[in-house]
Amino acid sequence: MRAVDIIIKKRDKKELTSQEIEFFIRGFTNGDIPDYQASAFAMTVLLNGMTSRETKDLTLAMAQSGQVLDLSKIVDVVVDKHSSGGVGDKTSISVMPMVAACGLPVGKMSGRGLGFSGGTIDKLESIPGYRVNLTTDEFKQQLKEKGIVLTGQSLDLAPADGKMYALRDVTGTVPSIPLIASSIMCKKIAAGATAIVLDVKVGLGAFMETLDEARKLASLMVDIGHLAGRKTVALLSDMNQPLGNAVGNSLEMIEAIDLLRGNAPVDYLEHCLHVTAHVLVVGGRAKDLNEGRVLAEKCITDGSALEKFRVLVQAQGGDVAYVDDVNRFERAKYWEVVNAPRSGFVSQVHARIVGEAAVTLGAGRAKKGDPIDRAVGFIIHKKVGDGVEAGGPLFEIHSNDETKLKAAREAVLCIWF
Ligand code: URA
Repeated sequence: MRAVDIIIKKRDKKELTSQEIEFFIRGFTNGDIPDYQASAFAMTVLLNGMTSRETKDLTLAMAQSGQVLDLSKIVDVVVDKHSSGGVGDKTSISVMPMVAACGLPVGKMSGRGLGFSGGTIDKLESIPGYRVNLTTDEFKQQLKEKGIVLTGQSLDLAPADGKMYALRDVTGTVPSIPLIASSIMCKKIAAGATAIVLDVKVGLGAFMETLDEARKLASLMVDIGHLAGRKTVALLSDMNQPLGNAVGNSLEMIEAIDLLRGNAPVDYLEHCLHVTAHVLVVGGRAKDLNEGRVLAEKCITDGSALEKFRVLVQAQGGDVAYVDDVNRFERAKYWEVVNAPRSGFVSQVHARIVGEAAVTLGAGRAKKGDPIDRAVGFIIHKKVGDGVEAGGPLFEIHSNDETKLKAAREAVLCIWF
């Protein structure tokens, strides 16, 4: 078999066999198939799609590119939650410690920024020292001892996704149902989650802009989860405007930690309570969503979720002083509040434009392996439905470059009016 023939077959809209998919993923993982062929492959899949059988084979091949953890000897249930990607979506950072504080073991593998959407792993690395490449032994040990793990793809766990993800980020191959479904579900399968909640975002700042597409992605991922013997549910949630107020790595970390202290924008808090309640139900800790929500609220008010986050950060080598004092997070050199040019009501805060502007400020990557600027981003002061006075604050820009700040102001100001 040759990689080029597999690319040509998909380019010509033919269905790949299981063997061809396994061959491609194995070769890509061990370095026999180079990045340029993997990028071409991703583009043919984006353009021509895959059948659900091909997508399932792709998912299993990517999961099996490293070890597939069986955690049943360590814990009875392991829960996980994963977002399909959005702007200002720092939900996992708050929800995972909330769930763990409610007594369910959390073993989660997250990703980096992807296109205009931020990534949990990049955000967590805003805490100096925080390690995102745990080995399988470290993963298991930490799950057993601390009841919570939040790591990224590694050489041991879903390495094919780590490599493919980095290429998709910078080759325009993100918004593809088979590529997203396989990327998300291979991580869930490899990390051994037994109960999974998928948060499928829909809207202007999501990879699925329509409800129809989001439903397709959700049901495909639920099917893959069931095929792999995992309890899996999917929620569809709005991503037309950024979630919460903060967009950008350190700024989002601050908002996520503030939520654990009981101080968060209403939409973000509501979303976290809702997702946590679902995870608690799927994981068997709550009998229904009402009970789940009561538990979710309690772990914030009694401080146990914040304490669980401290435990997580410490276990993964991060500096817990950042959890205790969010003023330690790196701040950008330039900071500007942009005021409303006229009075009115906000009818739209276009999430994708905000996300793309954040990437241009440096929060995301233009090329594979580019460093990111953790301090830059936006704080949104006015959301859809809010009244605005002329001269009142609309949003803040945080930048380390004056020219980029000016460009971000122009790109983002026009979306309010
Ligand atoms: N999250 C992932 O892990 N992969 C995707 O492709 C999109 C969101």
